[in-house]
Amino acid sequence: MTQITNHMPTKELQALDAAHHMHPFTADADLAKKGARIITRAKGVYLTDSEGRQIMDGMAGLWCVNIGYGRKELAQVAARQMEELCYYNTFFQTSHVPAIALAAEIAKLAPGDLNHVFYAGSGSEANDTNIRLVRRYWEVKGQPERNIIISRWNGYHGSSMGSGSLGGMKPIHAQGGLPIPDIHHIGQPYWYGEGGNMSPEEFGLARARLLEEKIQELGPERVAAFIGEPIQGAGGVIIPPATYWPEIQRICDKFGILLIADEVITGFGRTGKWFGSEVFGIKPHIMTIAKGLSSGYAPIGGSIVCDEVADTVGGAGDFNHGYTYCGHPVAAAVALRNLELLQEESILDHVNNVAHPYLNERWKALEEHPLVGEACLIGLMGSIALTPDKATRAAFATEPGTVGLRCRERCFANNLVMRHVNDRMVIAPPLVITPEEIDVFIERATKSLDECY
Ligand code: PLP
Repeated sequence: MTQITNHMPTKELQALDAAHHMHPFTADADLAKKGARIITRAKGVYLTDSEGRQIMDGMAGLWCVNIGYGRKELAQVAARQMEELCYYNTFFQTSHVPAIALAAEIAKLAPGDLNHVFYAGSGSEANDTNIRLVRRYWEVKGQPERNIIISRWNGYHGSSMGSGSLGGMKPIHAQGGLPIPDIHHIGQPYWYGEGGNMSPEEFGLARARLLEEKIQELGPERVAAFIGEPIQGAGGVIIPPATYWPEIQRICDKFGILLIADEVITGFGRTGKWFGSEVFGIKPHIMTIAKGLSSGYAPIGGSIVCDEVADTVGGAGDFNHGYTYCGHPVAAAVALRNLELLQEESILDHVNNVAHPYLNERWKALEEHPLVGEACLIGLMGSIALTPDKATRAAFATEPGTVGLRCRERCFANNLVMRHVNDRMVIAPPLVITPEEIDVFIERATKSLDECY
């Protein structure tokens, strides 16, 4: 067999990649012309690429490597678990210790009576589970016509048929026949981009009230659930006005609609609390989790389900749903050790100490930059809006995302990963980032912004 290793020249690796590897969310033909960036190893908050460059990862991979790269403890747990029990399923009245122990730990960390975990391999799978779970709940309750789920435009919940339909990303809907029936979307609470002359508080209320209008339009007896990310991540790290979530909660309570908080990004310390719902006082019936659950060391996700929903569905015969890798023992053991490490190392305290005021002061100072309209941050999750006119919060005359892409490319040239969502730059570094590393981050981000201007 040909040995393909880290030591091969970059060009050869790129040629093999282009010949055989189809990339997610990528125009492969365009990528083939310039060649993929090839990451060979990583430690702490730094990536190393095939050219030997040290790149600070301001995105924790895809918002997931909360504990930082290169943790031997997790590698050791994975190796031990593979030797002891590499795989067994959790179907057909079977269980195993890693799945049991992880579910108990998640239930301990989750607020309220979110005491039950239905495992999945990813956030997308977990949200597919949620669609089936809430519809099943209402079937068992004798209200099968309650099958509509309401979500938000520019929300992101994954890219499978179900989760991509829940999301409100128009480029995803434009391909392959999404959304599936009985998923409806309302406007997002994006004050900076869509708030016009309203105050953030007024706009937050107005956007939340779109939910009530939609419920009335569809018929309250038909609506099963509302789903939202406490803070939209892939939509551009959009922190909703303080008035938004309390009003959404009130409306869900009023109509007896299940509330699903998609915590795939906001879970496990990202916001300085275990879950983003705790920041906004949201009391969900179901939480979607993935990413930070294992810090990305193994693919695992799931739904944390409240007593009422779990008992109702579980008490009505088989729930005909599941994935081969539900509660995969290696992924579960790794996730459990990851949660232990986050606690042993007091990561919530660390996030709160480095985020506020240390990073926040430096991040907010970027608003002095001629290109930056707003800079916002909660915990270690932040964004800046690029604008040609701070007073009007105007968009650039160029195709949306042109300036953002240029900024992302300048960042990469300056050995920093920042992502762009149209013309918003977003960050979510590993939660272990230190103040000294934050200084490097800000220095590289500022230089990159200067080079875009
Ligand atoms: N939900 C949210 C809020 C996400 O940000 C993501 C991924 O970015 C998902 C769901 C989908 O997770 P996955 O990519 O693991 O399927």
